[in-house]
Amino acid sequence: MANMKSLRKINFIFCLLGLFIVSCKNSTIEPVTQFVFGTVCTVNLFEEGTKDLYKEIFSKLNSIDNTFSVKKKKSEISKINSCAGKNKVEISQEVFELLEFSKYMASITDNAFNPTLGALINLWGIGSKNQRVPTDSEIEEAKQHCNPSMLNLFTENDKNSNTKYFAQILDEQTEIDLGGIVKGYATDEIVKILQSKNVKKAVIDLGGNIYVYGEKDDAQKWKVGIKNPLANFDKTMTEPILILTVESGSIVTSGNYERYFMKDDKIYHHIIDSKTGCPSENNLLSVTITYEKSVVCDALTTAYFVGGINSDYAEKMGLRNCNIIFIDENLEVFAREIK
Ligand code: AMP
Ligand code: MG
Repeated sequence: MANMKSLRKINFIFCLLGLFIVSCKNSTIEPVTQFVFGTVCTVNLFEEGTKDLYKEIFSKLNSIDNTFSVKKKKSEISKINSCAGKNKVEISQEVFELLEFSKYMASITDNAFNPTLGALINLWGIGSKNQRVPTDSEIEEAKQHCNPSMLNLFTENDKNSNTKYFAQILDEQTEIDLGGIVKGYATDEIVKILQSKNVKKAVIDLGGNIYVYGEKDDAQKWKVGIKNPLANFDKTMTEPILILTVESGSIVTSGNYERYFMKDDKIYHHIIDSKTGCPSENNLLSVTITYEKSVVCDALTTAYFVGGINSDYAEKMGLRNCNIIFIDENLEVFAREIK
C-alpha cells in the first residue's frame, strides 16, 4: 500500500478546461492537427516544423493506428482477435512488444490495466451508437472472457534463424483492446523521430496524451494545465483546475468525462473494472501522471483510475521522477511525487 502521508493535498483552484499547453511561444510555422486514433492529434515543432517532418510524423501515427486499432478489420490486432480460439497469428515485432508490455502492466496492476477487455468494452459500447447498461448476467458472462492469461505470446525461429513473432488467443470470446495504451506508445514513437532529427523543442498532443519535448527557448519549464473534470458538464468552468510546471516528458490523463453516457443521473464512463465488469467506481474523476515515457503514463493512468488513490503500481515498477495527481468527486486534488 502506498503511504497515505505521501499524498499531499493541494488547494484546488477554481478554473477549468482540458489538458492544454498554457505557455508556448508563437511558432513560425503553424502546428499541424489531424484526426487519428479517433481523436484530435496536434503536433507543434515550432521553428523547426517542416512539411516533410510533419508528414513523416503523421504517417507514423496513421500507421500505428492501422496496426493496432480494433476498429480496422485489417489491423494486426483485429487479425489476432478474429483467430481467437482457433489458430496462432504471425505478428510484427512492434505488436509483439506492446502486447508483452501490456501483459506486464496487467500483472503489475492486478488487471486494473487489462489489455483483453474487448468482451466488456463491446458489451457496454460506451461512446458508440450501441451504448447501454447491460444486464447482470450479460456482465457476468463477458467478464469470463477478459483474462490476459488467455493471450499467448511466443517466438519461433525459421530455418534461417530469423525470429518470428506470434500471438494466439486461447478462448474464442476473448478480445484484445489496446485503446488504453496505444496513444502513449505512439507518442513515444514520435519522440524517437524527434530525437533522430535533433529537433530541439516540440509539443505532441494526441487527444490529451501530451509530451513536451526539449527545453523552452527562455530556459523556463513548460506549463501544462490539467482539465477541470467538470468542464464537460458545466460550460462555465473553462480554466484548468491545476497548472503543472514540468521539464521535458509526458503528461497523460485518464478521466471519466472523456467518453461516457448518462442514464438515470448516473455516469457510465469508458474505463472498465474487470473485477466488477462495470465502469470503475471509486470517487475519482481523473488521474494524471507525469513521467518520461508516455506508454507508461498511459497504461498507469488507466490502471490508477480503476485501482484508486491507494494503489502502488508506480512503486512496484520502481519508477523514479514520476508524479501522480488524483482529482476526486469533490474536486479535491491529491498529488503523489515519486522521487
Ligand atoms: P484511457 O483513456 O487511456 O484511460 O483508456 C481508455 C480506453 O482503454 C477505453 O476506451 C477502452 O478502449 C480501454 N479500456 C477501458 N478500460 C480499460 C482497462 N481497465 N484496462 C485497459 N484498457 C481499458
Ligand atoms: Mg491509458
